[in-house]
Amino acid sequence: MQPNLDLNAEFESAKDVADRGLHLAVFEAPNLEVYALDADTLRLLAVNQLGLKRLGQPLRDIRQLTLDGLLPSRTTRGLQSLLKTVQCRSSRSYRFRWRVNCDGTAPKTQQITVQYLGGALPSYVIYIRDLTESSIPSVAERDVQGLLATAIEQLPDGFVVFDRDGRLLFCNERYKKIYDRTDSFDVGTSLEAILRSGLRNGQYADAIGREDEWLAERLLAHSGIDTALEQRLSNGTWLRIMERSISGGGRVGLRIDITELKNQQAKLRLAARSDHLTGALNRRGMYDVIETLSETLEDGQRIAILHLDLDNFKSINDALGHEAGDLVLRHCARLLNRLEIANKHVARVGGDEFILFYVTQDTETQVRLLAHRIIHALDQPFEFHGQLCTFGTSIGMAFHSYHDKGRVGASLTAADIALNNAKLAGRGLCCEFRPEMRNDTVRQMELAQDIRTGLQNGQFEPFYQPQIDAKTGRILGFEALIRWRHPERGLVPAFQFLASAERAGLMDELDHVVMDRACFAAAQLKNWGMKGMAVSINMSAGQLQDPAMLDRLMRYVQSYIISPCDLRIELLESTLLDDRSRVMIENVHKFIKNGFCVELDDFGTGHAAIGTLRKFAVSRIKIDRSLVQDIDQDLELQVITGAIIELAERLGISPLAEGVETRQEQLKLIELGCSLAQGYLHAQPMPLVQLRAWITSYFTRYPDAGFHQMTKSG
Ligand code: C2E
Ligand code: CA
Ligand code: CA
Repeated sequence: MQPNLDLNAEFESAKDVADRGLHLAVFEAPNLEVYALDADTLRLLAVNQLGLKRLGQPLRDIRQLTLDGLLPSRTTRGLQSLLKTVQCRSSRSYRFRWRVNCDGTAPKTQQITVQYLGGALPSYVIYIRDLTESSIPSVAERDVQGLLATAIEQLPDGFVVFDRDGRLLFCNERYKKIYDRTDSFDVGTSLEAILRSGLRNGQYADAIGREDEWLAERLLAHSGIDTALEQRLSNGTWLRIMERSISGGGRVGLRIDITELKNQQAKLRLAARSDHLTGALNRRGMYDVIETLSETLEDGQRIAILHLDLDNFKSINDALGHEAGDLVLRHCARLLNRLEIANKHVARVGGDEFILFYVTQDTETQVRLLAHRIIHALDQPFEFHGQLCTFGTSIGMAFHSYHDKGRVGASLTAADIALNNAKLAGRGLCCEFRPEMRNDTVRQMELAQDIRTGLQNGQFEPFYQPQIDAKTGRILGFEALIRWRHPERGLVPAFQFLASAERAGLMDELDHVVMDRACFAAAQLKNWGMKGMAVSINMSAGQLQDPAMLDRLMRYVQSYIISPCDLRIELLESTLLDDRSRVMIENVHKFIKNGFCVELDDFGTGHAAIGTLRKFAVSRIKIDRSLVQDIDQDLELQVITGAIIELAERLGISPLAEGVETRQEQLKLIELGCSLAQGYLHAQPMPLVQLRAWITSYFTRYPDAGFHQMTKSG
């Protein structure tokens, strides 16, 4: 019957465990005593193997017991009140340790965990872990020391112990290897003696030249509670030193090799300060270096700053692609780096801008000579895939002196201002900064701001100047010429603000105002019933470089319901023939293909190769005023202008004379074969509101032309 009773108890026990949702697995833990109790009666429901072993009774007997029967009564009372408090805790559990004396054996430390499980059948589960028994099998003390010594020798780091008086007690081999210039590691040697021997042998890179100071700092650090510092050795190794006081005095320390980390950090720092394409400093790096140089300048020394801007770089990029552009930039950086100047620095500070700077006692003339050498060197043609391309450079020169300390920004701006002046004066020049240039720049900035405000307030509008055929009286059209209705200065002509607008990057906006108004004017001419009249617009180099220009033009044309042939596009001869970039050429071809007429403006002022006109299929050349003025009295002009007219005619291109002011000039031009004209003789540029009245009065003078050009409704 016995086995049956036991089986029965086990079954009941298992059932209780299952009913109360207790996890069976916890009863299988090998090194825990586990007891499950009914929370109300404190009767034991289940016990695991280890618990059974401890209690020394069969399960069926144990299941009859309550806590009272299990433990000495004093303990039980304590436990009972504890069980109650566990119920109230948010974690529903409680863990504590106690030391118990069991049957006269050595006292044991036990960890007790009590867990309350609520629900329909609330229960407690008690886990008892014997901390004494579960500890690692004991190892003889001398074994531990042996193990420790081996472990310390295996450490990848240097390990060292000093006593409370700073004398060496122990160090591992790694430590000795790290400090290979230290003479002796004898036990009892003082830290100071160890450091001094290293110093004598030049072991510490960061101590060179300041040995005493360094030693004092190092000893002071050693006396702190927790020390963490970095140390650079002369062999390039970087160490992190970590030291800590130990109980009973003395210090234990580690020397960790962080060379790799330091190198990586240095690389990252360098990358953040340099330009990846050319390897030169970037703007940030340049500031860092130049500021340091400025701080260490001595009286009589100064920093020469040469700010370079490559001429023609954009055309190379456009025409030959970015690969060629990159090569040019690298070539330029290399050339600057090879200059034989002591302690020079090269920075790339913009797309095609470089700054060369160095501390010097040279005179202005000497620095200027260097600038000219650079200009000459960069003026040499550069070969790209068998093709020679030329660029060139302009240079702004400024000096940052001992007295400019703390004002590096101002000196760099000075070089930039000088560069701007160099570019304005023409290409391939060096210009030295003068203080009055700053005033020009301020004025220029004020004007740019004024233009911006004017754009916002709609102060810009084109005026229209008629172009006529002086032989037949026909009106060919009108050239749109921008004007600024300035609230204080009155009507401002184009030449007074266009260059500033261009420098300030505002040309695009101005051009669009003109384009929009000009298309509107063309639509008005149609509304008024005029036939065969077009409106000409002046297209700046910037617009011509814009790959989206045709789309923009088409949008204006469509929104005013006019057609491309109602617009004529005037391009400067110099733009088209000098800056022949790929986009420009493509644009010109696209305009023509889409029905716009392209005219060449200011013809005769550039180095025109008339032959190329044919390639571009321009429909008209506008002979510059300089070839027209006083032509009736100037035989030489008659020869030159006559030749141009003849050549144009032969190429099927109609010439138009600009700036015709007198009847005599007009008659001479007709005689030479050019009857198309524009100029004050015929009319001044006028606002759109005056245009209709002017046309009407013109046709009363030339009724024949009016008959042909005005529809009935007009
Ligand atoms: P341009 O295209 O050669 O324009 C002709 C200039 O000559 C105009 O000056 C016009 O007013 C002036 N002019 C016309 N007939 C005579 C004359 O008989 N005698 C004299 N002395 N001058 C005459 P403006 O309007 O001051 O324009 C100057 C230049 O500014 C223009 O030269 C053109 O290159 C540029 N420009 C004018 N408007 C625009 C524009 O809307 N966009 C762009 N990109 N450039 C413009
Ligand atoms: Ca023009
Ligand atoms: Ca012109």
